[in-house]
This record gives sequence, C-alpha cells and structure tokens, in this order.
Amino acid sequence: MTDEFDLIKTYFKPLAGSEGLGLIDDAACLQPTAGFDLVITKDVLVSDIHFLSDDPADTIAHKALAVNLSDLAAKGAKPKYYLLGLTLPQDIQSSWLAEFAQGLKGLQDATGCKLIGGDTTSSKTGCIVISITAIGEVAENTMITRAGANKGDDVFVTGTLGDAALGLGVRSGDLVSDGEFLVSRYLKPKPRNELGVSLVGTVSASADISDGLLADLGHICTASNLSATIYEDLLPVSRSAEDVLKKHPSCRSLVWSGGDDYELVFTAPKAARDKIQEKSNDFNVLITRIGHIDVGNGVKLLDDAGNSVTVENTGFKHF
Ligand code: ADP
Ligand code: MG
Repeated sequence: MTDEFDLIKTYFKPLAGSEGLGLIDDAACLQPTAGFDLVITKDVLVSDIHFLSDDPADTIAHKALAVNLSDLAAKGAKPKYYLLGLTLPQDIQSSWLAEFAQGLKGLQDATGCKLIGGDTTSSKTGCIVISITAIGEVAENTMITRAGANKGDDVFVTGTLGDAALGLGVRSGDLVSDGEFLVSRYLKPKPRNELGVSLVGTVSASADISDGLLADLGHICTASNLSATIYEDLLPVSRSAEDVLKKHPSCRSLVWSGGDDYELVFTAPKAARDKIQEKSNDFNVLITRIGHIDVGNGVKLLDDAGNSVTVENTGFKHF
C-alpha cells in the first residue's frame, strides 16, 4: 500500500454509493427523498474498549456499522448512507483492510446502505478508532423518539437479553460454555432495521439496547418523564444463555444490565398488542411484553414474588 488515497481507492471505493462521488471529492452530495426526514447518528469504537485489536477485522467492521444501524432501527429509520472515520496503526496490513472492507460489505448489502465518505488517519500508538456516522430516512415527522411513552403503555423487547455480555465472558474465558451462539451475539450483532422501520406509527417510544435493558429503558423513562415496571420472569433469555447461567447463577443480572445486545426496547399502547404480535410473525423476530409504563420515574425490576430486585450496575459507563 502506498498512501491513504490508494487505501481508499482499493478498499472503500468498491463500497461507495454514487452520492460519494467516487470518494475523490472533498465531500459527498446527497438529495434526501422528498417527504422524508434524515435521521443521523454516530458511534465511535476504540480498540481495547469496544473490541480487541486481534478480533477478526470483518467482525470489527460489522460491529462498528451494526451499532450505528441499530440506532437507526430504534428510530424507525431506513439505513441509506454512512461515513467512515478511521484511525489505524501505521503498519496496518492490507489483509486486515481487505477483511475489514468485507465485513462492511456484508452488512451494507444486507441492509441496503452505502458508504459516501469518511476520513483516514494513522495513529502512532497502535490504537484503532472507528467512527461511523450513519444516515437514515423516515417519513416526515414520524421518527420514533425516546420521549413519546405514555402512562399505561406496555414495554416490549425484541430478541433475547444478556447474550452478548455472557458471550464476552465466554470469550474471555471467565464463563464456561460450549456454544458459539453467545460469542457470535457479542461479535456480530444483528441490527433490527426491517422491524424498526415497521414500528413507525405503532409504538410510542423506542431505544436500542446498547448499555443494558435497565439503562436504556431508563433513558426512555427520563425522556418521557415517566417510570417503568418490568418483571424478571418475563425477560426473554436464550437457551444458550440459560445453560451458562445454570453454571454461573451469579451472572443472571447480565440479563437486565449487560450491554451490547443491540435489541430494541419500545413502548406502545395496549391497543397495539395484536399489531405488534403480527410484526413479530412477519419479521420472524421474537417480541416479548415485559412490563408497563406508569407515573413517577426510574425503572423497577420485580421478581416473581413482587419484590424489587436490587440492581447494582445499570450499564457500562465510560467515565
Ligand atoms: P480532505 O483532504 O478534505 O481531508 P480526504 O483526502 O481525507 O479529504 O478524503 C478524500 C476523499 O476520500 C473524500 O471524499 C473522503 O470522503 C474520502 N474518504 C477518506 N477516508 C475515507 C474512509 N475511511 N472511508 C470512506 N471514504 C473516505
Ligand atoms: Mg478536502
């Protein structure tokens, strides 16, 4: 590889949409679809905080894009474009870059979004930083916010909870498991984009679960100025997670406080129950009703005897 322009031409130009103008201009130029709003989000991933430098490069790329597309899913926006900011060690190998580009391609092909620009710099410390800005579209004034929950709404989650956090434990050798499922849930999260788009007009508030159920549902409650009560025995747990939890019962709190699942937590009026069940069938995504919204503030987690479960950790915080 000679310089960053060759790097961009070789690995990223094949991923670019026409709005990126071949990745040789100063900026991209795009025209939003008439009658749609742009929904824009950014997530930064740093080696040794969000992934390990020696993780497979395609899974690093997949995850970096997936966490951004998951934010779009939570807002009901269809993924359209993304910009890629990359800081790489000076001695980065071309095989790493080829694999990285392959990881991006897999997910952009699956979700229909295109690369339209970015920036590339080197780091002297060996640190890898991936900063993706994703842009989606939603019909004018219909983006699902965190602030729209109402008293009496149901609370739902997609998929199963705690898999990624348990997968991280399995991967680091702290937890014993023979299945690959949990590790793949950590390394290659699947953003719920198709389902997310279909939830517009049916749900009242939504967030994706990046920091853990309690933390992210807590954000909905704060934004909506309401409280939530959820029930431990209703929380959806995968069979693989149950197997690990049998051996490591003290890890059960990861179901409600473990991050990185990239499922959706959303609220909806009771009248929408049948419609939500239909969407679960249509998109073949498990959707589970786990509680309800009330006046007050904060999230209460109750066990099957109706007692509050003590919660020590409500999600990962950087500072
Ligand atoms: P500038 O000189 O304004 O900093 P660059 O030389 O960094 O611009 O970028 C040249 C072109 O390459 C731009 O179109 C930019 O969007 C694109 N580009 C740079 N890095 C990346 C990347 N990592 N992924 C996609 N496009 C990139
Ligand atoms: Mg320029």
